[in-house]
Amino acid sequence: MKITQVTVNVLRVPVDRPYTAGGRTVDANWHVLARITTSDGVGGFGYVVYPRPDLMTTIGHAARELGEHLIGMSVLEPEAAWERLARRGDWVGPGGLLHTALAPLDIAVWDANGKTLGQPLHRLLGGYRDRLPTYASDGMWVSLSPDELAAAAKRHAAAGFSAVKLRLGKEATPEAEVRRVRAVRDAVGPDVRIMVDATESWTLTRARRAGRALQAAGIAWLEDPVHHQDVAGLAALRRELDVPITGGEHLYHLDAFRTLLEMRAVDVVILDLARVGGVTPWRKIAALAQAHRTPVCGHVVPEVQVHLLSAVPNGHMVEYVPRSVGILAAMPRIENGELVAPPAPGLGLELDEAAIRRYRVD
Ligand SMILES: [Mg+2]
Repeated sequence: MKITQVTVNVLRVPVDRPYTAGGRTVDANWHVLARITTSDGVGGFGYVVYPRPDLMTTIGHAARELGEHLIGMSVLEPEAAWERLARRGDWVGPGGLLHTALAPLDIAVWDANGKTLGQPLHRLLGGYRDRLPTYASDGMWVSLSPDELAAAAKRHAAAGFSAVKLRLGKEATPEAEVRRVRAVRDAVGPDVRIMVDATESWTLTRARRAGRALQAAGIAWLEDPVHHQDVAGLAALRRELDVPITGGEHLYHLDAFRTLLEMRAVDVVILDLARVGGVTPWRKIAALAQAHRTPVCGHVVPEVQVHLLSAVPNGHMVEYVPRSVGILAAMPRIENGELVAPPAPGLGLELDEAAIRRYRVD
C-alpha cells in the first residue's frame, strides 16, 4: 500500500455547447488529474475541474511537484500524506493555489485507500447512507433570458430533478430578478423547489431588497447574496430574512468555516472540494458544521461529493453539475431525484483512457 508512482496531467475537456458565465465564453472544462500507483498494484485517481484555463497548467506543475513527496507514503494514512504536502507548500498557503494543487492528490490517496480496503468512499468515511437528493443547476446561467432559463429548468424537471438552481445578479432591479424566478416557476410547476445563487453580485443594501422580494416569490434558498468576506453582512441577512441563506464555496480553510459558523452567517454550508484541499479537510469542516447544527452541501463535482455527503449525518443535497462526463466511463446514476453513490471500492468511478489521451494538453 506504499505509493510508488504519481502522475499528473492537465486536460482540456470540451463542452458540448459553449456558454457565457462571469462574462467569459466557456468552451471547455479544465482538469488537473492526479493518479497514484501503490506497491501492491492498486491505482487511485483524483481531479479538480474548473471551466477556465487560467493557472490550470501552473496548478498541474504544483501538483506534480507536491506529488513527488507522496512516494513511499501509505494510502492508508491520508492524514499524514496531506500534512506532509501542506507543510511543503506552507509558505504559499494555507488555501489558494496550494489547496487546489493538493486536492487531486488527496482525492487520489482516498480512492486508492478505498480500493485497498475494498470499500466505497461513502462507507469508508462514515457510512450514513448511500444516496442523497440532488438538484440541477447546470445550464441555468445568468446570461440566459428568462425564456431560455425556463426551458433549461423544464428539461431538468423532465429529467427527474425535484429542485433546480438558477443564477441571478445581473438585473437592474429586484423586480426583474423575481421575473426570472417566476419564469422558472411557470415552467416547472409548484412541486419543484427553486434555489437562487446570486454569485456574490449584490451590495448588502441590494441583497436586503432582493432577498425580501425573492423570499415572497417562494425561493427555497438564497446563495452567496453578498461577497463571502462580508460575513457580518451574511449574518445580518440571515437574521432579517426567513429564506435560508447558503454559502461557503469560496472558503479555503477550516478556520474560515469556523468564523462563518460562529457568526451564524449561513443556514447551509457549501463546500468546494478543490478550495478546501480535498477529502481530508472536507470531513473536518462537515463535522464542525454538524456541531453548529448546520447541514452541508457540495459545490459541483457531484460524482465525488455524493460519497462525502452520504458519509455524514448532516449531508443535505448534491449539486448536479457534471463537468467530467467527458473523461469518465459513467456518471453515478440518479434514482427518484437522488444521486446514488457508486458501490464499487474507492470513488467507484472509471476513467475513459482514450478520452484522456485525446484531451491532454501536457
Ligand atoms: Mg454557488
